[in-house]
Amino acid sequence: ETIGANFERTVATHGDREALVDVPTGRRWTYAQLDEAVNEVARGLLARGIEKGDRVGIWAPNCAEWVITQYATAKIGAILVNVNPAYRTHELAYVLRQSGLRLLVSAVAFKTSDYRGMIAETGFTATVFIGTTDWDDLITAGRGATLDERAATLAFDDPINIQYTSGTTGFPKGATLSHHNILNNGFFVGELVGYTERDRICIPVPLYHCFGMVMGNLAATSHGACMVLPAQGFDPAASLRAVAQEKCTSLYGVPTMFIAELGLPDFAEYDLSSLRTGIMAGSPCPVEVMKRVVAEMHMTEVAICYGMTETSPVSTMTRRDDGLDRRTETVGRVMPHLESKVVDAATGRPVPRGQAGELCTRGYSVMLGYWDQPEATAEAIDEARWMHTGDLATMDADGYLNIVGRIKDLVIRGGENVYPREVEEFLYSHPDVSDVQVIGVPDQRYGEELMAWVVMRPGAEPLTAEAVREFCRGKLAHFKVPRYVHVVEGFPMTVTGKVRKVEMRERAVEILD
Ligand code: ATP
Ligand code: MG
Repeated sequence: ETIGANFERTVATHGDREALVDVPTGRRWTYAQLDEAVNEVARGLLARGIEKGDRVGIWAPNCAEWVITQYATAKIGAILVNVNPAYRTHELAYVLRQSGLRLLVSAVAFKTSDYRGMIAETGFTATVFIGTTDWDDLITAGRGATLDERAATLAFDDPINIQYTSGTTGFPKGATLSHHNILNNGFFVGELVGYTERDRICIPVPLYHCFGMVMGNLAATSHGACMVLPAQGFDPAASLRAVAQEKCTSLYGVPTMFIAELGLPDFAEYDLSSLRTGIMAGSPCPVEVMKRVVAEMHMTEVAICYGMTETSPVSTMTRRDDGLDRRTETVGRVMPHLESKVVDAATGRPVPRGQAGELCTRGYSVMLGYWDQPEATAEAIDEARWMHTGDLATMDADGYLNIVGRIKDLVIRGGENVYPREVEEFLYSHPDVSDVQVIGVPDQRYGEELMAWVVMRPGAEPLTAEAVREFCRGKLAHFKVPRYVHVVEGFPMTVTGKVRKVEMRERAVEILD
């Protein structure tokens, strides 16, 4: 099934139900109304000469038109290219060229010197600015066009989306995904969370990333649930306000988002009693934070998902009937119709249960490949179609997985492997520590040494290396104790809310110099 056909089935059964709420502008659509808005844009794109397989970019923060463009491109078989809203001149020009864009849909707020710089660099001017006469012109142009003929040419395994990875470990790569990849993944996420047409999902995560557009939008529309967009960018108070006002049953976020929401000074004042579930994903979450999400945010059925852009994204997930410990301490088990294995990265052979190795995923959700990067694709996906994730994980006897870190973040100190995650979890239990990240820095004697970056709780004295040593004494092996401690206000982050350890390592070298 294609995304368009699946969407139309929902429209046929749930036409009168609310589909989308754009909270900042107060606009709302039922499924029937959303379908009409989608069709108008789809017809406009046809009238503009967009062929099947042409790339149409979207460069905008979260807004209703993002969702409308997503389904409009799917209905005409154009490949949607998600452009990171944080991109500026150079990166925009890169994505434009790399994906060969025919048309760009953009937020009018982005019509700045960055946009003009990109035009100067590429000569590209085919942009439709949302909320301007461009948008109206597109719709007017489409009057009289019909979608049926195009719809008949679409196949479920056509490429439909190029999504760039977060750029946590380097330059973002464009994963090419089909209807089949992302529609099924969104559907199964919705199944396992137990969505029905009565659910209302608060989506504060970026739509440009798979967390928003697949685990949010596609999970919602394949079950007739409602998408609630609380704000253009992440704002913890706006998220909780939207949950309360719109009586959301589900809330999404990466760990830093939930930490920010739980840390709001007026947290207790928001009525979160409508919440039932939600999804935590994107990076490792301290167990203590997970427990607070369950206990203090009414999200008793919250799930942890693990995945990556290249696998559409979710490959493992906790289930509602898993015990609380497993739902807070693991990333669950492999998703239906997918396979997971943990291998020795050097030999490719599965490691014994409980031992750390590289996690690999296989099945319907593995991307078609990186867009126009055959070598990178061949490096990531082996001949047997296993996607090598670059993540280190352990699998227990029952198939539950723990992510212990990224291969690139593993620290080897004097021949001992140190998983920063383990040290982070431990330091997180210090009463004065609000957030912490651990990296490896070059060291002449040991090859690498550990450095902790610490965000202090309000009013707490800055931690010293000495105090950290004292705190770890007798509880952590000596080689896991950070030699350096650096107190900061925050960490360098991607727009998707991930800590960029690459950048921390570069800065650390300068600090220690
Ligand atoms: P890039 O590939 O450009 O360096 P990225 O890997 O962060 O960036 P994404 O595809 O957005 O880009 O993120 C996938 C990665 O996020 C996974 O490989 C994993 O490292 C991490 N991740 C996702 N979910 C979880 C989770 N629940 N627990 C721990 N880590 C997670
Ligand atoms: Mg990655």
